[in-house]
Amino acid sequence: MSAGVGILKGLSVTMRHLFRKPVTVQYPEEKLPIPARIRGTSFKWYAELCTGCSMCARACPHGVIKIETHSADGASRVIDKYEIDTGLCMFCGLCVEACPFGALFLGKRIENSTYCRDDLYLTKERLMADDVEASEYYQSAVPHHPREREVMSAARGGR
Ligand code: SF4
Ligand code: SF4
Repeated sequence: MSAGVGILKGLSVTMRHLFRKPVTVQYPEEKLPIPARIRGTSFKWYAELCTGCSMCARACPHGVIKIETHSADGASRVIDKYEIDTGLCMFCGLCVEACPFGALFLGKRIENSTYCRDDLYLTKERLMADDVEASEYYQSAVPHHPREREVMSAARGGR
C-alpha cells in the first residue's frame, strides 16, 4: 500500500467520526445517568433491618467492616458499632450478597473524593444519616425493594 492510500484511508476514518454524535461527556459539568444496579462507592445501611449477625463482616475479604454488639433482653442484639472503612473497600459487593436480611446495599453515589481520609470512614451514625439511594445490585435475590422493607420494618416496630 502506498503512503498516499494510507493517508486517505486514515482521513476517511477521521471524516466519518467528524459527523458522528459524540459518545463522550464533559465530566464533571455533564454526567451520565447512574445505572440502577451500579456498585457505587457508597453504602446504604438499614439499621432497623440489621441484626448485627456479622455475616457481612465475615464475607469481606479486606476486613473493613467492624461490628460490635451486646445482648439485650436475652434474645436480640443491640448494635453498638457498625463501621465501614471505604478507603480500604474495593466495592466488590460480597458483603451485600452475604447479608441475609437485606440490610446492606451499595449506594448509587460514586463521587466521594476528599482531601481527608477520615471522611471515608463510615460510622454507624454517618451511615444512618446518609440519604444515598440504594443500588439495585443483588436486590433480585431478596423479595422486597428497600422502600417496602422500610415500611414492613416500621410495621414490625423497627425490627
Ligand atoms: S464491598 Fe467488598 S471490600 Fe467493600 S466492605 Fe463489602 S465485601 Fe468488603
Ligand atoms: S448488615 Fe446484614 S449481614 Fe451485616 S450485620 Fe447487619 S444483618 Fe448481618
